[in-house]
Amino acid sequence: MTQPATAPTPGRASREAPAAPDTRRRVGILALQGAVREHADAVRALGAEPVLVRLPADLEGLDALILPGGESTTMRRLIDRYGLREPILAMAAGGRPMLGTCAGMILMARRATDGEEPVLPLLDVTVQRNAYGRQLDSHEADLRIPAIGEEPLRGVFIRAPVLAQTGPEVEVLARDDEGRPIAVRQGRVLATAFHPELTDDRRLHRLLLEMIGT
Ligand code: GLN
Repeated sequence: MTQPATAPTPGRASREAPAAPDTRRRVGILALQGAVREHADAVRALGAEPVLVRLPADLEGLDALILPGGESTTMRRLIDRYGLREPILAMAAGGRPMLGTCAGMILMARRATDGEEPVLPLLDVTVQRNAYGRQLDSHEADLRIPAIGEEPLRGVFIRAPVLAQTGPEVEVLARDDEGRPIAVRQGRVLATAFHPELTDDRRLHRLLLEMIGT
């Protein structure tokens, strides 16, 4: 006898199994402005579910949050317009890991060299915006980041900040050619001056996911 046409193939078998509770991690991406879609792709590639965050209610039940790159001045205004400042800080206080990239890093700094007021003061650092000047609006560099492995990570910098100063609880994960911190971790808060979502290297997003529930 031939098998019935509906015989489950291995791939289909798992889909037809009784629905397992969805244990996928839900990772929010602040979607007010900036490089949102690429972060969503990175999150999905790692088997987690991206959730676009525009309003405080969108933060409910999230396991982690990404603050993307873009224009920090615009984002700071929208964060306040939508009432996101307090709920994001509460989420961080509740131990949910966060990753800020470029403008996201600027938003998480407690101090800025241009004297801007802090927005989400989660990192004990002083940030310097647009630190590579006009000549180097955008550039790439191979970065050594031992926390994610030996293989260098290609860093894409777009009008990127650097950290002019870091406090004692801040772990510097990577520095630029001039020795300035460009990736840091403090507790469950990660930040990069560059854009890890713009390459296929998912190791920094993976690190964020690994910090969930630690
Ligand atoms: N230069 C931008 C700022 O100051 C950040 C750029 C970026 O996120 N790529 O907000």
